[in-house]
Amino acid sequence: MKQTDIFISGGGVAGLTAAAAFGAAGFSVLIADPMPPITDEETDGADLRTTAFLQPARDFLIAAGLWDRLSPFAAPLQIMRIVDAGGETPEPRVTKDFDAADLGDLPFGWNLSNWLLRREMVARLEELPNVEFRTGVGFASMLTRTNEARVTLTDGTRISTKLVIGADGRNSPVRQAAGIAVKTNRLGQKAVTFAVAHEAPHDNVSTEVHRTGGPFTLVPLPDHEGKPCSAVVWMEDGPEAARLAALPVDEFNAEATLRSAGVFGPLTLASRRMVWPIISQIADSLNSERVALVAEAAHVVPPIGAQGLNMSLADMASLLDLAQANPNGLGNADMLKKYHRARHTDITLRVKGVDLLNRASQAENPLLRDLRAKGVEALYGLAPLRKTLMKMGLGAKG
Ligand SMILES: Cc1cc2nc3c(=O)[nH]c(=O)nc-3n(C[C@H](O)[C@H](O)[C@H](O)COP(=O)(O)OP(=O)(O)OC[C@H]3O[C@@H](n4cnc5c(N)ncnc54)[C@H](O)[C@@H]3O)c2cc1C
Repeated sequence: MKQTDIFISGGGVAGLTAAAAFGAAGFSVLIADPMPPITDEETDGADLRTTAFLQPARDFLIAAGLWDRLSPFAAPLQIMRIVDAGGETPEPRVTKDFDAADLGDLPFGWNLSNWLLRREMVARLEELPNVEFRTGVGFASMLTRTNEARVTLTDGTRISTKLVIGADGRNSPVRQAAGIAVKTNRLGQKAVTFAVAHEAPHDNVSTEVHRTGGPFTLVPLPDHEGKPCSAVVWMEDGPEAARLAALPVDEFNAEATLRSAGVFGPLTLASRRMVWPIISQIADSLNSERVALVAEAAHVVPPIGAQGLNMSLADMASLLDLAQANPNGLGNADMLKKYHRARHTDITLRVKGVDLLNRASQAENPLLRDLRAKGVEALYGLAPLRKTLMKMGLGAKG
């Protein structure tokens, strides 16, 4: 029987970050994932999405020993621009800038490619002698008691641990084994993700263009072959997303440029296209005996406002704080009850808030679209409220 302080099920971006954070804090960690991580851009199946890490994520990544590795590749996000193009023609009719300078010296966040995150995170785990990363093998079952959990992996390995962290995604096997139910909202939407090159510089502005079907978001990337470049998340109703993803490149470029309301001039595809199903989901509880759920195992939100992984980092920060405050109580009922209490209300608020923004952005009806544009104007006009919204977007409690 192998002994470890913490067993992490799932080596996605969330699980890898958790392993680095708990490992750097001195806990022994065993992390397992049946899928070996793809750590380059070209290999089929590489995750070509990008993740915008918001301000509070940085301190956590520094403590985990990850930030120095990641920062050379990060594109800063200085301004969040909301564009409403919901009029008769797809042209900007309301444009509002939220500038990070209104809150302080730091940008709102930094954008990084997911495949690169995996590469740097795996390299970081190799530096930590108290962290073992097993790939090609996953969580199979567990038995919990008040003082430990016994986990069996798919290759028959048995592990005795104080804490099982379920970071194994939206269909989390750990969550199912713990008997924790979820509430799921299927939105009928999909996200097409890709990178584009454009003539106009992005000036570190992240732009969300609203018309119908969901937001079209351009997030700054470092220049590619001497040209300004942005990562795009284009949300649409399912069949429309499938049609867009299958279009010949020239036609796709033309449609993407039109849907972007021309904010950066003509857009040219600079990567493969990928399609992601969009759901909204929340686990009824973040804990059970010796088990804590984090990231998509606990909550899934549509990709709006970069909330997904940033909420996940807040989960891990909370869990790590509790573990460090009382290392002898690692994984006990008191710690896990406190974890649930610290996170569940904030998660519920954010899942509902992102849902609301998504519905407003999906609107087909011209009257609702006009209302949405007025809403953006009104919120923006109230400076104190604008600042509060910016702070909440970064992770401050509402
Ligand atoms: C289009 C799009 C754009 C996004 N942009 C942003 C953004 O800008 N900012 C942001 O904060 N968030 C963003 N998100 C959300 C973010 O991508 C997710 O929160 C994050 O990728 C989820 O990571 P995860 O590790 O929880 O889940 P996953 O990436 O799904 O990882 C789960 C892992 O568990 C493994 N697993 C499955 N079964 C087992 C088992 N039996 N045992 C062990 N392991 C198992 C899987 O192989 C997988 O590797 C975006 C999401 C989408 C769809």
